[in-house]
Amino acid sequence: MGQAAGTLHPGDPLTALPGVGPRRAQTLAKHGLWTVGGLLKRVPLRYEKHEAETAIRDLVPDAVGSARGTIAATRWAGHPRARKGRFEATLDDGERGLALVWFNQPRLRDRIQPGDRLRVTGKAKPWNGYLQMANPVFEHLPQADAVDDAEDKAQPDEALREARLRPIYPAGEGLRSDQIEALVDAALPAVLPSLEDPLPANVRTDFALPTLADAFEALHHPETLDDAAAGKRRLAFNELLLLQLGVARRRLFVDRSLRAPAFSNDDAALAHATSVLPFTLTDDQQAALRDVAGDLSRQRPMNRLLQGDVGSGKTAVALCAMLLAARHGAQSAMLAPTEVLAEQHYAALSPWLEKAGVRCEPLTADRAPSGSSARSRILDALANGSIQVVVGTQALLSDALRFRNLALVVIDEQHRFGVEQRAALRRHDPVPGDGPPGALPFAQAGASQTSKAEPDPREPAPHTLVMTATPIPRTLALTAFGDLDVSTLRQAPGGRTPIETRVLEPPRREEAYRYLRGRVQQGERLFVVAPTVDGGAEASSDGSPSPFAGARGVVELQQELRERWFHDVEVELAHGRMPSDQRSRAMDRFRSGQAPVLVATTVIEVGVDVPEASLMCIEDADRFGLAQLHQLRGRIGRGPSPGKPLCVLIAEAKTDDAKKRLAAIAGTRDGFKLAEMDLAIRGAGEFFGAKQSGASPLVVAKLPDDMELLLAAGRAAEAITRHDPDLTLPEHALLSKLLARQQSHAEGLIDVG
Ligand code: ADP
Ligand code: MG
Repeated sequence: MGQAAGTLHPGDPLTALPGVGPRRAQTLAKHGLWTVGGLLKRVPLRYEKHEAETAIRDLVPDAVGSARGTIAATRWAGHPRARKGRFEATLDDGERGLALVWFNQPRLRDRIQPGDRLRVTGKAKPWNGYLQMANPVFEHLPQADAVDDAEDKAQPDEALREARLRPIYPAGEGLRSDQIEALVDAALPAVLPSLEDPLPANVRTDFALPTLADAFEALHHPETLDDAAAGKRRLAFNELLLLQLGVARRRLFVDRSLRAPAFSNDDAALAHATSVLPFTLTDDQQAALRDVAGDLSRQRPMNRLLQGDVGSGKTAVALCAMLLAARHGAQSAMLAPTEVLAEQHYAALSPWLEKAGVRCEPLTADRAPSGSSARSRILDALANGSIQVVVGTQALLSDALRFRNLALVVIDEQHRFGVEQRAALRRHDPVPGDGPPGALPFAQAGASQTSKAEPDPREPAPHTLVMTATPIPRTLALTAFGDLDVSTLRQAPGGRTPIETRVLEPPRREEAYRYLRGRVQQGERLFVVAPTVDGGAEASSDGSPSPFAGARGVVELQQELRERWFHDVEVELAHGRMPSDQRSRAMDRFRSGQAPVLVATTVIEVGVDVPEASLMCIEDADRFGLAQLHQLRGRIGRGPSPGKPLCVLIAEAKTDDAKKRLAAIAGTRDGFKLAEMDLAIRGAGEFFGAKQSGASPLVVAKLPDDMELLLAAGRAAEAITRHDPDLTLPEHALLSKLLARQQSHAEGLIDVG
C-alpha cells in the first residue's frame, strides 16, 4: 500500500486513491461511489465509541479497554466445517500477551492471522493468570513490515490512539465499513488542504457553520456527536443553498425579463366574477382567488400552482380568474391534458362564461379539427380579439397561436404533469445573454409596445395558473417547485362522504367481487380499474418487457366480470386504445346508469365525473403509485349514493415498500400527507427526475427531515441574490460555478420537476 497521494480534488476518480484499481473502483461504483468528493460525502450511519488505548499490562480487569499488538498465534477449537466453535488468538504487544476469544465465528479464521496487527476493544477478565477478552471489537492496523525498522516508535500511525468516535458507514456486498473508512482516511488529508469553500465567510458566520474542510473532518473524525452533526449540517446546507440559489435566480429572471399585463381587481370585481356561479365559494376557494387576483395586479407574470384533490373546486377558481381577465378585455386560454377533458371543461365553463357575456370557443380535435374552417374561424377570432377564452389541450402549446392580448393561461394537469410539457411551457433556466426567455410559445398579435417612454426590455408573457390534483409536499414546493407560488384547496365543497379503503390479498378477490356484486344489485355503481389493457402483453416502447407483465388486463377482466359476477347487468369497457367515440359511448352508458359497472384503465383517473359512482375495485393495486391510487379513489363518493363509498385494493405487497404504501393509502385520506409519505418512502431523487444515483442534487441533505435547514438556505440564497444578482462578486465565484454545473447536470429537470 502506497502513501496517500499528494493533492486530490473532489472531482477526481477514486482510482486516484492508493490501493484502488479498476476492479475496486467497479465495486465502489456499485455502491454509488465514483469520485473522491462523493466518498467524502458518504455520511456515517453512526459512530462507535472507542476507548483510549493502553498497553496490555495497563488494561483494567473487568473494565472496557482498548489495546493493540501483533497476533502471535491463532487456533480454531471446533469442527473444521461447523459453525459452532471457539476462535482463539493471542495478541502480543512486545511486553505482555492478551488472550482473545470469539465464539461461533468460523470466518474469523480468514480475517485474523498470525502476524496481523490488531487493535481490540472489550472487557478484559483475568483468566488462568492471563487477561482474556471475549468477543472483542477489532480493527486491523497497517502492517508494520512496510517499515524498515519495526521497532521505531516514532512512526506516526504507530502512536496509541486516544479515545475516539469511529464512523460506521453503510456497508454492502463487497464493501465493508472499515474499508470505506480506510479510503476516507486516505482521501481527507489529500483533499482538505486545497479544498475551496464556496460559502462566503459572512454566510458562514450568519448561520454558525464550520468551514467546508472542518465539516468534512468533523463528519468523519468527530470529537463529539455534536461535532459530527454540525459537520453534516454544513454539508447539507451547501446542497440546499445551491438548490435555493437556482430558485432565487429563476425568480429574478422572471422579474427582469418578462412582463405580463397587470390589472387590479377590488373586492367588488371579485364579487362580480363569483356572482356567475350557482354556489358560493368555499373559504379556500376565496383565498385562492384573492391570491390569483393579487398576482394579476402585478406585471411580474403569475406563476402559481393551485393544488387540491379532484373535486375540490379548482376549476371554479380558474373560471373566476378568467372572468377577471375578461373584465379588462384580456384573453385567457384553458389547457387540459386530454381531448376528453378539454371537451368537459368547455362544456362546464361555457354556460357560465356566456352568462357573464364572455365569448368562449373550443379548439379541440373534434369540434375544430386542424385545417377545418371552424378552426381557422377560431384562430382569426383569437387574433382579432373577438373571443376572450379558448379551451383546448396542451397540444396547443406546440402550435403557434396568435392572440390579440393573451393575459392568462390556465393549465389543468390533473395529475403527473409531463416533464416535457412543463419544460415546453417555461423553458429552461436562463442562460445569461443566450437562449429563449421562459415565456410561453404564444405570440401576441398586437405585441408592439406602447412606445412613449424608453422601450421595456422585458418580453411580454401571460400569467400562468397550473391546477394539479397531485399535491406537492411542502419541502418540494420550496425546492423543485420553488419558483411557483402555491394556493391550496383543502376542504371539498359541500364536504364529501369519506371513502373507506380496504386492502385485500389476491386470495380474497372472489370474496370482494361477491360483496361488490351484492351492492351493485342494490343499485350502486362500480368502477373496476386495472393497470393494463391486455395484461402487460405489450412490451415497453424500448422493447424491454412490460413492467405490468402478468397483470390482469381490462379486456380479459370485462369478460370475466360479465361471465362470473355480473351476467344480469351491463358491464362496459373503457381504455385508451379504444376509438374515442366508442369510449365516450361506454362512459355515457355508465354515467346514465344503464351499465352499472365500468371496467377501465387509468383513463378514468383523468376527469370522468360520475357523481353516482360509490364503489371501486382496483386490481393489481400494488402496481400503482400512491398519488395515483389516491386520484383514482377520488372518482367515487362525489355525490349522494345509497351506500357508503368503498374502494377495494386487490394487491399483493411483495416488498416492504409496497406494504408501507398500501398501509398509507388505506389509513390516510389526506392527499398532502400521502404526498409527504411518498417522498419519505421514495426519497427526493425521483422528484428531481434523477432516480439514477449521482444525479440527485441532494446527497447529504434529506427531505423532509432537513426542512429547517432548507428554510435557512432559502434565506441565505435570497440575501446573496439580492446583494449580487448575477453572482459576479469574487466571493461568489465558486458558488456561481457550482450552480452552473448543477444546472447543466439536471438539464432543467429541477425546474420542471
Ligand atoms: P376540480 O377541478 O378541483 O376537480 P371542480 O372545479 O371540477 O373540481 O369542482 C367539482 C364540482 O364541485 C363541480 O361540479 C363544481 O361545479 C362543484 N363546485 C365547485 N365549487 C363549489 C362550491 N364552492 N360549492 C358547491 N359546489 C362547488
Ligand atoms: Mg378538475
